[in-house]
Amino acid sequence: MDAVALRAREQTPSGLSGAQAARRLAQDGRNEVPPPRPPRVWRRVAGQLTDPLVALLLAAAVVTIALGDMTDTAVILGVVVVNTTIGVVQEIRADRAITALRQLSAPSARVRRDGADVIIPAAEVVRGDVLVLAQGDIVPADAELLEASQLTVDESALTGESVPVGRAVPDEVSAGTVVLTGRALTRVTRTGPHSALGRIAALVAATRPAATPLQRRLAELGRALGVVAVGLSALVMVLGVANGQPLGEMALAAVSLVVAAVPESLPAVVTLALALGAMRMARGHAIARRLHAVETLGSVTVLATDKTGTLTEGRMSVRRAVTAAGTVVAVRGRGYDPTGTVDPGPDSGVLDLARAVVLCNDAELRPPDADNPAWRSLGDPVEGALLAFAGRCGLDVAATRSAAPRVAEEPFDALTRRMITVHESVAFRYAVCKGAPEVVLDPGTTDCPAAVREALRAAAQDMADAGLRVLAVAGMAVDSREAGLRGAGLAPLGLVGIGDPIRPEAAGTTADLDAAGIRLVLITGDHPATARAIATEVGIPAAEVVSFDTTPAPDSVQRAAVFARVRPEQKLDIIAVLQGEGQVVAMTGDGVNDAPALRRADIGVAMGAGGTEVARQAADLVLTDDNLATVATAVHEGRRIYDNIRRFLRYALSGGLAEILVMLIGPAFGLAVPLLPAQILWINLLTHGLPGVALGAEPAEPGAMRRPPRPPDESVLGRGLVASVLLTGAFIAAVVLGVAVWAHAAGAPWQTMAFVTLGLAQLGVALAVRVPRGRGRPGNPALGVAVALSALLQLAAVGFGPLRALLHTSPLTWTQLAVCVAAAVLPGAAVATVSAVRRMVPDQARQA
Ligand code: ADP
Ligand code: MG
Repeated sequence: MDAVALRAREQTPSGLSGAQAARRLAQDGRNEVPPPRPPRVWRRVAGQLTDPLVALLLAAAVVTIALGDMTDTAVILGVVVVNTTIGVVQEIRADRAITALRQLSAPSARVRRDGADVIIPAAEVVRGDVLVLAQGDIVPADAELLEASQLTVDESALTGESVPVGRAVPDEVSAGTVVLTGRALTRVTRTGPHSALGRIAALVAATRPAATPLQRRLAELGRALGVVAVGLSALVMVLGVANGQPLGEMALAAVSLVVAAVPESLPAVVTLALALGAMRMARGHAIARRLHAVETLGSVTVLATDKTGTLTEGRMSVRRAVTAAGTVVAVRGRGYDPTGTVDPGPDSGVLDLARAVVLCNDAELRPPDADNPAWRSLGDPVEGALLAFAGRCGLDVAATRSAAPRVAEEPFDALTRRMITVHESVAFRYAVCKGAPEVVLDPGTTDCPAAVREALRAAAQDMADAGLRVLAVAGMAVDSREAGLRGAGLAPLGLVGIGDPIRPEAAGTTADLDAAGIRLVLITGDHPATARAIATEVGIPAAEVVSFDTTPAPDSVQRAAVFARVRPEQKLDIIAVLQGEGQVVAMTGDGVNDAPALRRADIGVAMGAGGTEVARQAADLVLTDDNLATVATAVHEGRRIYDNIRRFLRYALSGGLAEILVMLIGPAFGLAVPLLPAQILWINLLTHGLPGVALGAEPAEPGAMRRPPRPPDESVLGRGLVASVLLTGAFIAAVVLGVAVWAHAAGAPWQTMAFVTLGLAQLGVALAVRVPRGRGRPGNPALGVAVALSALLQLAAVGFGPLRALLHTSPLTWTQLAVCVAAAVLPGAAVATVSAVRRMVPDQARQA
């Protein structure tokens, strides 16, 4: 740190006041590039109306007007209005959910307001704010440096070139660049659209989020179904005309059939299911930053996790310390509370060690206050633990630091695995280095008798075997700052062993993931022995621990579940090997170097509380509680949503198929036009509307987390869904035709009976494909209500005079109605029975 920076620190700016900031915010606007306006309602309506199916319907309406058939015109227009309304409402709901999600994972910034550091949404940063930058931060606005130490930034967001660029006072840093190393205190100069990033962002047109793979596949499916439906409907028309039916009437029937058979609400249902599912996940502490994460989660086969904070609590404490002279002390105390004891009492070697770790340290301890019942560590928890240790040795942290001001430093970096500081006063100049034992105890770093080195290495191995994270510490007097930063020829001071309690739920999570067919893999920068000890404790198979100190063989990467001494960029190699095997990989990460791996993984998972901003913005999923168990919950939710989309397909497609089959086969049984266009459209409205949407809210299958993940390349119609649709559709058609043929022979109003049976049978299937209910399992009242309402409407179509006129139905006797209901129950009952049998056979339990 140079003289300018030091002077700046003396008069450390206290920042804006809250009132000033609020005024600036009102004046300059928020620090964001204005998001694209949501489309206006009329645009959404127009979007719905340009759908080919709707266009077809409108054309049909013109035909009916020409034919003078005003009731059919009314029905068709009614269908268009209702469909458009449902479509627009669902689109708006989905958009709202997506916007809300985006806000949940919006970037934050650390600014000084009223003299204290606070974390605020980056969008609320204003001109003049004093902004604190640390490793892994994304610079939220253009700012001038007031103080900077070892600051390097990645400006690729602006320049496209990803190289570290050193920045020092009085340089500026630009919005959108990433702090790679070091720390800085800055003052904001430009925000929002006036900042460097804003100027660039304003140039590139706002892009709508890309469709997810599932959305794309379903859109393709919809088009394919459309073609099939058009073909079959044309066939119905040709056959009808050949049988002497009027052309206009048959054309209308064909159009209605196309509309009815194609599940036009499919895209809306899927988007809404994904968006609402993402909202639910957010309430469960997992924020999906991209919609595709929700569906991909369901097919994750490997979850690669780091250790600290996800499997462990991330609350560190020094348990044991060893000095170079061989003194071993046990450390006793509670959390980060610096009161406590070391046993036996500290000798001068222990005190030297404690003093060194206070100096080579950026953390602060905070006593309990109104909001926090216990002592807290600000900064790296490892370093907080070191401060608590020093306190327990009887050292005063503030006094130790002010007696030896820091004049130079090399910050900790996961690549070098060490940190060096140089301290100077009138009496001395002194360098301290702390880091991984292999690094610090290397002859290149420390100079000492071989026996001392060996003894320390053995002690380090012992502590690692006990699951402790080990830091080695060295120091010496130096002639110059440069000599200190070289980090060579230091004298070892000793070792500290830091414990981090395993999260109580970690072992359960490991077992849950195992049952769900997801391979859990531990990746850590820590020592292999520490990794093995922790893995064993949470139940990850640790027979083989692959250490990345040397390049490991790819086949060991395929086999092993524990990887140690992994540098962040090596995570990419691990992902590549796993993905090459066809695995779908979710990977957690929190550091600035983890961002590429988070992007490369199929699901990048970042820590919301502990991680860096770059990691969060690179991730697909952000865990607000930093807890691995939350990933399991999110996978569960992903599987639920996918199952429900299949549920909807099974229901909607079998209904559409049944309608086509009835129209196609009916004439062969002497039923010239089995259903009138208006009747087909009516059934379409009833069945696709409410029950379809309600199916998306079904709870998860009871066994959803006790089956292997679905193969990533499996079709959404795979795993027997096509067969199931064909069988169910055929069964419904058979039942409807049976009723109609019987009624025809008996001289009953056969067309009305076919109409009633067809509608009710489809609703029965909606109930049958739902998740089996059971005691203590959540239900889905929406589905029951939707089916009941639709059934009532279907009955009203024959019981209510005006509807009867509109739909050309006839009144039914109670007996006739009973026949319809009895027949309509059959397909649903069959589907339910088959599903129940399948669930009893464990192998088939995966059938959704
Ligand atoms: P993890 O994967 O467990 O998060 P890290 O990459 O953070 O591992 O740390 C790797 C190694 O670097 C640790 O085992 C430790 O020896 C050392 N280390 C960790 N934090 C610090 C620090 N603040 N200062 C010096 N060395 C550290
Ligand atoms: Mg770490």
